[in-house]
Amino acid sequence: MVSISRYKIIFKCSEHLFLVIATCPSECVCPSCGAPLCCHDHRERHVLLKSGIHVTLLVPRCRCLQCRRLHTLLPDFVVPYKHYEASVIQGVVDGKDLSACPAEDSTLRRWRSEFRRMAPYAETLLRKVQDAAYPLFGASLLAFLRQKFPRRWMRSVLPLLSAHGFFPATRFACCAGSACGTLVPIEERSGST
Ligand SMILES: [Zn+2]
Repeated sequence: MVSISRYKIIFKCSEHLFLVIATCPSECVCPSCGAPLCCHDHRERHVLLKSGIHVTLLVPRCRCLQCRRLHTLLPDFVVPYKHYEASVIQGVVDGKDLSACPAEDSTLRRWRSEFRRMAPYAETLLRKVQDAAYPLFGASLLAFLRQKFPRRWMRSVLPLLSAHGFFPATRFACCAGSACGTLVPIEERSGST
């Protein structure tokens, strides 16, 4: 599973689907070995938006050119292995008004619990990205991100986590049409993440 932040979405009227096309080749790399990914096929992904509308995305699935693993590319408003849009889950984590959130209480508790488990990983990766420019025992970078980008901090964290293999390893958590060119059928030899 690879979370991407640069993409375009095309509505396919005849099929009532939204086709997701990655637009940044540098994001299309294998989280397992770092090699480039090549588009293999597409799969449907259902998402419940903040507006309450169910949509079906057609997300690309890519094959790693080196280790041959398959990875699904997910736009960053989709949380891996979650039905709800990222902004809905973020609102719950942030303690926002939940009146518009149709999820059950047990689901809300699980999202909060999962965030508490995810936070140390995100903090570590954010510090790694900052390298030596940030003091080791300084204030939380994740807290800073949440404060500076209150409406979309989760969408900033998801690609970072997926790029470092967080989601496949923990079950929390798709090649790019335009980025990699046309669809290239490749013989399937391994499972996908
Ligand atoms: Zn690989």
